[in-house]
Amino acid sequence: MRELIALSCTNCKRKNYYITKNKRKHPEKLTLNKYCRFDRKHIDHKEAKP
Ligand SMILES: [Zn+2]
Repeated sequence: MRELIALSCTNCKRKNYYITKNKRKHPEKLTLNKYCRFDRKHIDHKEAKP
């Protein structure tokens, strides 16, 4: 039941990461502070459709 989701940068909106997660166990939207190579710094990345 793991679903593919994209993590999109909240600054430039690019989808920098693709991960899978169990939506049944974690129905809430993910927000992760990850490195964006376009902004060249750490930015919050929000869950988005792949
Ligand atoms: Zn970015």
